[in-house]
Amino acid sequence: MTEKLMYKCDHCRKVMATVAGMERHEKQCLHNPDGHNCYSCDKSFLGDYDDDCSYSVAHDVPICAYTQDIIRENFADRCCGYKRTDKSYHNRTEKDAEAAVDAELNGQEVQNAL
Ligand SMILES: [Zn+2]
Repeated sequence: MTEKLMYKCDHCRKVMATVAGMERHEKQCLHNPDGHNCYSCDKSFLGDYDDDCSYSVAHDVPICAYTQDIIRENFADRCCGYKRTDKSYHNRTEKDAEAAVDAELNGQEVQNAL
């Protein structure tokens, strides 16, 4: 038997074998109040995605209202439009998410006008 050192997230129950992996996880952990994660963004929602390539519809998938695409990986760290909310994507409607996008685009116009 070999004893192995493991690293536990300070915000959830996740355990990992490497420091680098855990540091990456903690930055986007949904339970981290300062975490950056597309699933907690005010522009994400649970919806049906119309795939133009395969002519099929994916039901109940996480979607970004800004890119209009399925959220396949976490971009929040690199996204200038990321805004954390207390609700995750499955608690939000498409209308909420689109309102958040509109609010941000209007805000940018106001800033540009100044
Ligand atoms: Zn965690």
